[in-house]
Amino acid sequence: MQCEKCHSDNTQRLQVVYEGGTQNISATSRTTGIGIGGGGLGVGAASTQTTGISRSTLAYRAAPPAKQRYVFALFLGFLAWLLWVYTSAFSKWFLLSSAVIALCGYWAYRVYTFNNKVWPELMAYWENEWLCLKCGHIYHHE
Ligand SMILES: [Zn+2]
Repeated sequence: MQCEKCHSDNTQRLQVVYEGGTQNISATSRTTGIGIGGGGLGVGAASTQTTGISRSTLAYRAAPPAKQRYVFALFLGFLAWLLWVYTSAFSKWFLLSSAVIALCGYWAYRVYTFNNKVWPELMAYWENEWLCLKCGHIYHHE
């Protein structure tokens, strides 16, 4: 695969770049100390576990499109629902919370449509994107 900008052969799929730049870390560091206290010698050891994901700057650039999340719409909808339940019918707050619930429903619907219609297309597009390791150009090739 040739880079369309500099015609170098040194190119990689974004997917490969992304996976290659993402590492799982699981490290254990150990600290040992010897102390002399009142009347005895004590040895103490502590170990700390560090886990997580390390990602290079390049992997961030090559990251796949993210799905949208429901959590904010659900949280806001839940708060509005609480208000809706505990206010008297047709008061100002009742109407406001009804509007917010409707809005959250619409929001959740938009998230659903994005994740099921738009996101798969973005993902398919991303799977055919290439990075030139010589000039850093990102381009699309089926
Ligand atoms: Zn290039």
